[in-house]
Amino acid sequence: MCRRCGRIRITPTLCAWCLAYDLEKRIRDYSHDRAEHAWMLILSHLPESCCAVSGLTRDELARIGDRLTVDRIDNDRGYTRGNMQLLAGSLNREKWMFDRYYLPGAMQALGGSVVRMRQELDGAS
Ligand SMILES: [Zn+2]
Repeated sequence: MCRRCGRIRITPTLCAWCLAYDLEKRIRDYSHDRAEHAWMLILSHLPESCCAVSGLTRDELARIGDRLTVDRIDNDRGYTRGNMQLLAGSLNREKWMFDRYYLPGAMQALGGSVVRMRQELDGAS
């Protein structure tokens, strides 16, 4: 059970609702859709859910030490319906670095990373 509210947990300590709350707290300036966000967090834990950019499933990502995260497609908007996608954690961090420093070419860089991830997965199986 969630140690905060008693709902079924999706991490060792928290439920999707409390996890969504914590993530949204970090970016208070934007408006969020908590229910939709919590649902995306639940989806990110299902074995057959997959990354919107690489197409790799949660289980395939796990084999290369990666996981699914909830990405805000437009970083200038909150966790709202239509602005969320499941994205490999490594790609999410890479995208965030590009956005943060206003670097062009994020999608090309992500493409290169996807190729590397697939090669790593082939090597892991
Ligand atoms: Zn909770």
